[in-house]
Amino acid sequence: MSVRVRFAPSPTGNVHIGNIRAAIFNWLFARHSQGKFLLRVEDTDLERSTPQAVRTLLDCMNWLGLDYDEEPVYQSRNRERHLAIAEDLLRRGLAYRENKGGGGECVIFRMPHEGVLGFEDQVKGQISKKAVDTQDFVIVRSDGSPVFHLANVVDDIDMGITHVIRGDDHVENTFKHIELFKAVGAPVPHFAHLPMIVNHHGKPYSKRDGAAFVGEFKEQGYLPETLFNFLLLLGWAPGDDREVLTRAEMIELFSLERCKSSAARFDIKKLVWMNGEYIRQQPREIYADSFKARITGAGLSMEGVDLDGIMEQMQVRTKFFSDIPDNCAYFFTEDYPYDAKAVKKRLMKEGVAELLEQIAAAYEALENFDLETTHATLTRLAEANEAGMGALVHPVRVAVSGLSEGPGLFEMLVLIGQERVCRRLRLTAQRLRDNDWAEGSQ
Ligand code: GLU
Repeated sequence: MSVRVRFAPSPTGNVHIGNIRAAIFNWLFARHSQGKFLLRVEDTDLERSTPQAVRTLLDCMNWLGLDYDEEPVYQSRNRERHLAIAEDLLRRGLAYRENKGGGGECVIFRMPHEGVLGFEDQVKGQISKKAVDTQDFVIVRSDGSPVFHLANVVDDIDMGITHVIRGDDHVENTFKHIELFKAVGAPVPHFAHLPMIVNHHGKPYSKRDGAAFVGEFKEQGYLPETLFNFLLLLGWAPGDDREVLTRAEMIELFSLERCKSSAARFDIKKLVWMNGEYIRQQPREIYADSFKARITGAGLSMEGVDLDGIMEQMQVRTKFFSDIPDNCAYFFTEDYPYDAKAVKKRLMKEGVAELLEQIAAAYEALENFDLETTHATLTRLAEANEAGMGALVHPVRVAVSGLSEGPGLFEMLVLIGQERVCRRLRLTAQRLRDNDWAEGSQ
């Protein structure tokens, strides 16, 4: 039997990470088993399922590389078929009409009321329930519209779905759905329910906890590869300690047996770390495109700089492309901002202005301005001043970059260049003497 799975979202205009995680698991399962991954748009709520909402959904899938194998199925177009099945169930006594008040009649499906209902969930194991604890349920409303349970099951039957992989908020529905499959006389698919995504308090992850929609992560500068990988680990693990996997590895290793049944904790620190890892692994040409776009976008000129050298230093340190201009403006302009905290901590100290001038003089005298000479000069001056290396390294870094963090100091100095480094050291010393950064001044 060849695998056919589907992603069956109800478009609302935003794609929640819990939903897209289900798509990722279905997609990987299909690709791993060389089956088909189908898309069914559950658009029966016509007010929310606007063309724009559907477009947003398709854009998110495309962004994440979730390609589907057949034409998407639009549930709203199958209404006649859903109603025909309901009629058939009525005819065979498996459903009945009932006046629920308000004049119209709905169609109710009969659930068994004896024995135990159960199924072997591919993730959670055996799940069962006493039949007396279930109730008959509406499948067609009094206004003649098919209810989710009916539409969902009939479409799964018509699409030949072999495995239903979805969030565990649907476990209760599955008892109903299985009875519907049987009543229609169709084979019951396998079910796999994915664990709930929770926040650090163990409560369902919601938009109050931070970004919850795919579009928000995209806007914040996460790469699609990062989000895909991160969401996969919310409920699945490869069985070793690997966390960053290629798409090919994911496809090869994915299995429902490795899915976890316990709640999956959303760890934002891990997501940020992972984004940095993906950026670090990008081929330089790809990184360069985004890097240059950000630099130009911030109004900075790349003329006359050692762009390759700068990117080599920055790629391993980029967590978000949006941070690039702030993190390395000093390579491109003399008008770089000084971080107030760094200035206070590293520059506004007795003797720093003199020290910076001493260093500037020593650097001006260097014939070769390279990693070795810039380093040796500071070591020599540290000894001469009976100071630790840190007493020189930190002020120099803040003076030439405005920041307290960044690439290795000497790599940075060489990239900025002798002349500009010396000018910046002297200018910073002057600003210190002028009390430029004193409380109350800008
Ligand atoms: N439209 C339902 C949802 O998004 C479908 C659930 C399913 O069967 O996958 O929750």
